[in-house]
Formats: sequence, structure tokens, C-alpha cells
Amino acid sequence: MYAEIIVDIASEQVDRVFTYRVPENMALEPGMRVKVPFGPKEKEGFVIRLKEQSDYDESKIKPIHSLLEDYPALLPKLMELAWEIREKCHCPLCEALRLMLPAEMRGGRIKVKTEEYARLLIPQDQIDEAIQKQGRAQKRKLLITLLSDGQEHPMEELKAMISNVREPLKYLVEKEMAEVYEKEALRSPYYGRVDAPPDPELTDEQKEVLSELIPALKKPQKPFLLHGVTGSGKTEVYIRLVREALRQGKGAIILVPEIVLTPQMINWFRSRFGNAMAVLHSRLTPGERFDEWRRIRMGHARIVIGARSAVFAPVENLGAVIVDEEHEQTYLSERFPQYDARDIAVSRGKREGAVVLLSSATPSIYSYAMARRGDYILTEMPYRVAHRPLPKVHIVDMRNELRLGNNSMFSGLLSQKLEECIAKGQQAMLFINRRGYASSVNCRKCGETIKCDRCDVSMTYHSVDHTLRCHYCGAIHPMPKQCPSCQSTYIKPMGTGTQRVEEELNKRFPGAGVIRMDVDTTAGKNAHFELVDRFRAGQAKILLGTQMIAKGLDFPKVTLVGAVMADLTLNFPDYRSPERTYQLLVQVAGRAGRGEEPGEVVIQTYQPDHYAIEGAADQNYRDFFAREFSRRRSDLYPPFTLMVRFLCEGKEMDAALETAEKIKDQIMKEYSGTALGKRILFIRADEAPIARIQDKARAHVLAHRHHSNVCAQGEKADAYDQKQG
Ligand code: ADP
Ligand code: ZN
Ligand code: ZN
Repeated sequence: MYAEIIVDIASEQVDRVFTYRVPENMALEPGMRVKVPFGPKEKEGFVIRLKEQSDYDESKIKPIHSLLEDYPALLPKLMELAWEIREKCHCPLCEALRLMLPAEMRGGRIKVKTEEYARLLIPQDQIDEAIQKQGRAQKRKLLITLLSDGQEHPMEELKAMISNVREPLKYLVEKEMAEVYEKEALRSPYYGRVDAPPDPELTDEQKEVLSELIPALKKPQKPFLLHGVTGSGKTEVYIRLVREALRQGKGAIILVPEIVLTPQMINWFRSRFGNAMAVLHSRLTPGERFDEWRRIRMGHARIVIGARSAVFAPVENLGAVIVDEEHEQTYLSERFPQYDARDIAVSRGKREGAVVLLSSATPSIYSYAMARRGDYILTEMPYRVAHRPLPKVHIVDMRNELRLGNNSMFSGLLSQKLEECIAKGQQAMLFINRRGYASSVNCRKCGETIKCDRCDVSMTYHSVDHTLRCHYCGAIHPMPKQCPSCQSTYIKPMGTGTQRVEEELNKRFPGAGVIRMDVDTTAGKNAHFELVDRFRAGQAKILLGTQMIAKGLDFPKVTLVGAVMADLTLNFPDYRSPERTYQLLVQVAGRAGRGEEPGEVVIQTYQPDHYAIEGAADQNYRDFFAREFSRRRSDLYPPFTLMVRFLCEGKEMDAALETAEKIKDQIMKEYSGTALGKRILFIRADEAPIARIQDKARAHVLAHRHHSNVCAQGEKADAYDQKQG
């Protein structure tokens, strides 16, 4: 017997199967991981296929050394998926296969954790007698009493009750009165305890959506796109769909943008499904992640909630894949291989006959276009639960404020609403998409902006510890006293960030209590959950944060939402900026008025007439879609074109640009005169918008081409790294 094996080395050169001999008594199956001799070393490998015969010279074929696990770590369907990723993402198969396993599993870096247990072996009716017999050995007597229920007891528990418990226990074991044994233990990542609320009566809209989704569990359909406004009760729809899948003996995967940002959703799910659910995200310890993965693989947990990589969770008999907030950027992996978890969800669902549900209050232009074309089935929930109104949105033109002599960061309207809100004992959320104290530090004498010496971006002032930080590479420097360029002392932080807003709020509303949530305040493992809990418990009246607070949070007492500087995302040099601004604003606005009291929203902007800002105020998705879709058409952006981006990084900009030029020339040469070449609308080699990151010069080649089939492909720019120097 022979096995075709992919050796776990990420390199183009070895991106093919190697044949090994299967030793006589090795029970091998496809999907198992093995150790094999490779060159002078031993490497880990994945078994792709077994075969009776080999085309090679028998004497040259080496035998497999050993099994890494006694079960196939890779499910057959996931192996098929890996081949697809290899094609789509242009990566070696082993890189695609690595996505399917917890990273810690490779290289044997993590071990199965075990715990010790003890149990009494004497029959129930002899226990009293046994205790008598111990004479004055008090610890032994106590130990037998503790174990007298006949149950197994963790060693940890016994240690806590009896000091030096090993000694009396050893005696009992020697006399065959008790036994001590090891059992596999699963490290648990769970935070806090959750009570199950009763199921709410479904709204008519929820019922209607479910009446389309549930039959699809039995008879697979196209993917569904659920457009449900904020507060329309999408989570309850997911829960009912998942429950029905479970009932039919199937499993489910629920993807969320970033799990630490959606503690409530996890709690809702946990309260309904308990230990049948596993959670996968980046903040788990390696041991926890490995154990959660094994609970899924062994079938103990059939429901998985997780961030983008959970789309590869080893759920067998998959019934549903749900992508919550499907418009989110985080579903695109920024690491190689650059897969799109939404694409994978759709493809995996199709392959395994599962219901695919993409869902959002602000669907991506791409997905909505797919639905309009009939490639996805569109379902809608246009009203909030219990007919609560959508919040009322006010746009404030900050240019007017300046004219009126108000140069603070809060407009008159926002200040007034905040005061009222606090006076009424309600809560407010303020959103500003920039962490730190200020956007930049400038010299008022020579105009110099202090930039990171490794990246082409300005440093941000952090007031907490008087430092300048680079948000791209993480560099930290003390705040200088003098301008590095002209030595003047007139250097000053400009613009606004979360820390400055916090300072200002504390000044204006002393006693109201402000909780700030951004990357800097949420470093600890459970920091997010704790901040959210404190706000929910009413310990602060104002929650202030970056886009971290824009999503998924449901606080019934929040009646006011303010977007302090709505333009920040709008001015970003990217064709998706209007779409992102719209989504972000609608999402933050959606945090207001989710309870009994109606909500209000104040959007502060310098571009009140921009259609993304106006659109967010109207909260009419269809209108916004129509505007944006026609702009994309006339400006030749995806989904009407396909954009390809080659990023070239190098020590020097000259070298990076030269490589970019070469790539461009090669593409033009390759395709000139071909049908594909005719569809290239535009190709250019240039410095990247951020010309330097982490001391690497960055240049890129950007190409647009007409889509053969509008929207048939992803709207993302494919990026290939071309490392240089
Ligand atoms: P979305 O994700 O669509 O913004 P959520 O799923 O967060 O909305 O639901 C909004 C609120 O409505 C939550 O507090 C939820 O518990 C509640 N809710 C959902 N469905 C119902 C229902 N059928 N009846 C009563 N309350 C509901
Ligand atoms: Zn200066
Ligand atoms: Zn930097």
C-alpha cells in the first residue's frame, strides 16, 4: 500500500504529492497527518490519497515514519476545499491545508492536556468498616469519606480539601481501595456564566425569513442574502435556523467579524446551546484553541462561532453557514493566502449541501448586486423588532459651528443632546474612528509633521503616557520637546482622537462616567467583555470608542449616538470609501433606540452633502445602493471591472518601482493583442498610497479590466506579494 503525501513545507518547489510506502500494520486514512523522511530530515505531511500501486521504483520509495494523530485531522470535504483555495489564492496546497488546522497542532507544539482523577474501589456497604479500620490515620479517614459517593474526583479538588493528599491516597491505592488515573482535559475559554432567557415569540418578518431558510436545510438552494435593518432581530433568525439544523442532526458555523466585538451574540448562543457550541478566535490561548478544535472534530460541539478562519472548522454534516455582518472587511484575510471567508462560506455550503446565509443591515455592494442578478436569494427584514422606530438622524455641518465661533469638537446640538440624555438617566455612545489623542503632531513654526521613521505615516500622540505611536508598525517614542526639523518648541498635537474626546467629556460632564473602548484599552484577554459589562450595568453614562463599538452591541438604555468626525473614513484614497462610510455610520446609528425609548443620532461632518453621509441619515439602503452602483459603473470600478494589484516591497523605493514597472511591462507584453488584453482598461505602476511601512518601500501595479461577466468574481483587489531585496 502506498500513500500520496503533501509535505508540510510552504514552497512552490515541493507543491506536489510525494509517494511513500505504508508500513504493514499502520492503519492509514486520507486526511491523517504523518511524519515522513524528507531529504536528510523528518517532516510532517498530510495524507492525500491511498493507492495500491506506485509508478516509481519500489526500492526508492521510503516508508512513512509514524502517525501524528490516530484520526484524520482533515475532513475529505475540507481537503477538496484546499485544492480550490490553491487555485484561487495562488498558494501551495500545504498553505491551504494549514488553514484547516489550529496552528499549534503543527510541529507538535501542543500536547493533549490531562488531569488526574481518583475514585474509591471499595463496595458501598464496606465503606464504614473501611473507615473504622484506619484507626488514627485521620487523613485517610477523611479521604475515604470524601470519595464515599463512588464518583470520580479531580485531584485538584482533593488537594484543596486535604493537605498532602498524595500520601494517604498512595496508601489506599497500594491496598487496592482506590485508583488514580489520568483523563483528557479540555481547556475551557469561557468567560462568565449565562442564563437562558425564554424564547421570544418570533416577529412576522422573522417567521417569513425562516420559512424560506428552513426548507433549504433539506433541499439546498442558492445562498441567501438577508438584508435586515439594525435591531430587526437577525440573531434570533440565526438561532432558530441553527436549532433546526441540530434537530436534523446537522452542524452549523456562524462567522462574525471579530469575535471579541460580539460578546452578546456569543452569550445568546451559549445560553441556548451550551456546550454543543465551540468558539474559535484569536484571543484564545493556543491550548484553548486546540481543545475547541478537537471538540468540534470529535463531534462534541456541532455549532461553531468564530472569526473568519472558523469557516474551516471541521464540522461534519454541515447544515448551515451564516456570515453575520457580511459587508465587513475582516472577512478578507490580510495574510497569505488571501482568502475571502465569504467566498469560502458560499463554496463550502455548495459543496456540502448547507444553507448559506449572508446577512447585514448594510450589505456589501457586491453581495447586493449578486442578489439583484438572482445569484443570491434576497430576503428582507425592513422593520425593527416590536415596531420600534429607527433612530432619528441629525446631520451637523461643522463648518457652520466654526462660523458660529464654536471650535470645540462637539457641536451645539451634540452637547445639548448629551446633556439631556444624561439628565434623563439614559446612556449615550460616541464614535470616532481614530484612537490616541490627536491625529498628528505638528510644528506651528515650520509646519513639520512628525512621521514614523519606518513608515510613511504621521505619528499619533497618546496622552496617557506622553508618547508618539505609529499605528502601522507599533513604534513608540517619547513626545519630543522640540521640533526635530527647526528646534522650535511650538509643537502641538492637532486633530482629535479617542483620548482627547475622553478628556473633553470628563471635563464637560464630570460624574457622568466615560468608558473608552479602543485598541489601547482592550489589550487584555477579557478586557472587551469587562468594559461592555460595566457599561451595561450602568457604571458609566457614555461609551466612547472606535469602530470597535459600531457593531453588534445591543444596549437598551442607549438613546443617543454621536459620530464625532464622520468624515475620517470618507477621505481615504480607496474606491470603497463611500461604501465603508455609509456602512459604518448606519451601523453606529443602529446602536441607538434599541430598547423602549426611541433613539437619536447626531452625525458631525464637514461634507454634509456627500451622498454617503446623506444616505446614512436616510437609512435607505436601496437608494444608497443605486447611487453607489451607478458611480461604480461610470467610474469603472468593481463589480463592473476586476481590479488586480501587485504590491512590490523592497528596501529602496527605486528597486520597488523598478520591479513594479517590470511586472507591468510583462503583463502588457503577455496580453497585447489577446482577447484578455483588449479588456484591460487601465494599468499603472506607481508608489503605493502609503509609500513606506515597517521600513519597506512599497510600490504597486494597479490594473483594471472589464468584467467578462459583471459581478461574477469578487470585488476585492487581488494582491500578490512580490518581495524584493
Ligand atoms: P440585529 O442583529 O438585527 O441588529 P438583534 O438580533 O441584535 O438585531 O436583535 C435586536 C433586539 O431585539 C435584541 O435585544 C433581541 O433580543 C430582540 N429580539 C429579537 N427578536 C425578537 C422577538 N421576536 N421578540 C422580541 N424581541 C426580539
Ligand atoms: Zn519646526
Ligand atoms: Zn511605523
